[in-house]
Amino acid sequence: MNANPLAPCLLCPRACGVDRTQKPGLCGMGANLRVALAQLHVGEEPCLSGTTPLETGDVRGSGTIFFSGCNLRCVYCQNHDISMGGLGHDLSEDDLTAMMLELELAGAHNVNLVTPTHFTPLVRQALIQARANGLTIPVVWNSSAYETVETLRTLDGLVDIYLPDLRYMDAKAAARYSGAPDYPEVACAAIQEMHRQVGRLVVEKGLARRGLIIRLLVLPGNLGRTDLALDWIAANLGTGTAISLMGQYYPAHRAHEFPEIDRCLKPIEYASLRRHMEKLGFENGFVQRVGSSAAFTPDFRQDRD
Ligand code: SF4
Repeated sequence: MNANPLAPCLLCPRACGVDRTQKPGLCGMGANLRVALAQLHVGEEPCLSGTTPLETGDVRGSGTIFFSGCNLRCVYCQNHDISMGGLGHDLSEDDLTAMMLELELAGAHNVNLVTPTHFTPLVRQALIQARANGLTIPVVWNSSAYETVETLRTLDGLVDIYLPDLRYMDAKAAARYSGAPDYPEVACAAIQEMHRQVGRLVVEKGLARRGLIIRLLVLPGNLGRTDLALDWIAANLGTGTAISLMGQYYPAHRAHEFPEIDRCLKPIEYASLRRHMEKLGFENGFVQRVGSSAAFTPDFRQDRD
C-alpha cells in the first residue's frame, strides 16, 4: 500500500502518476489541500439548501466548501477561476475539519464538498476527524463523477449524500469538451458505486438525509446526450432515483472557441428533456427555469416520510 497516495497520484481516471509533492497533475493541484470558498449557500437543490416549499421556512443553506482545481476541465466551466485558475488558499486537514465544524455551528443543513475528488485522501482524513469531534449534519460529495470506483470505496461510510453529475453519454462530446473520452463508462461505474453505498434519496421534513441525487446539465443541442443518461438511470438504477435536470448552461470560459456550444440553452431543448424524463416515469426530481442558476423547483413529491 502507498505511503503517500498523492506520490505517485493515481487517484482519478487521469492516472497521471506524478509525485504531487513535486509538481501538480492534470487537476492542477499539488499535495496541499486548497479551498477557494466556504459559505452557506441557498442555490442548491431545495432539499440541500433548505428552501423547499414543503418545509417550514428553515432556510439556512448548504455549507458549501469549494475546492480549488478539478480533474475534468470542461471548456465551458462556469467556475474556471477556481477549477483551473488556482484561486484559493492552502490549508491543512485540521483547518478543513475546523471549517466543517464551523459551518455546522453557523446553521448549515449539511457539509457540501464541491469538486473534492483530487483531494480524496486528505478530505477523508478531515471527515474522520470532524465526525470524531462532533459533526452531526450530513456530508454531501458534490463531484463530476469522473472518479474511480477504487477511490470512491475509501469514502464508504463517511459520505451520506452523493451529488454527482452525469455530463456525457457521448464519448466524442466528452473528448471534445472535457478531454475525457472514457467519461461515459467511468461516470456510470462511479455512480453505481455511489448508489451501492448510499442508496436512494431519503428526505425528512424537506431536508436530504442520505442517498443519491444525479445532476444532469443539459448542453446546447443536447450534445452530452442527456436523453441517454436518463435512459441509463431508468434502466440501471430505477425511476425512483432522484435526478436534477439543470438548465443553467451559458457559454463560459473557452466555450466561444466551440461555435456549437457558444450559446445559451433554448427553452425547447430543456422542455424536450423534461418531457423525456416524465415519459420514463421518474418519480423524484428537480427542475429549473432555463438560464437560472438557483431556482430549482421540486417537480415531484419530495417528502418520502
Ligand atoms: S487527481 Fe490529479 S494528479 Fe491525480 S490522477 Fe487525477 S488529475 Fe492526475
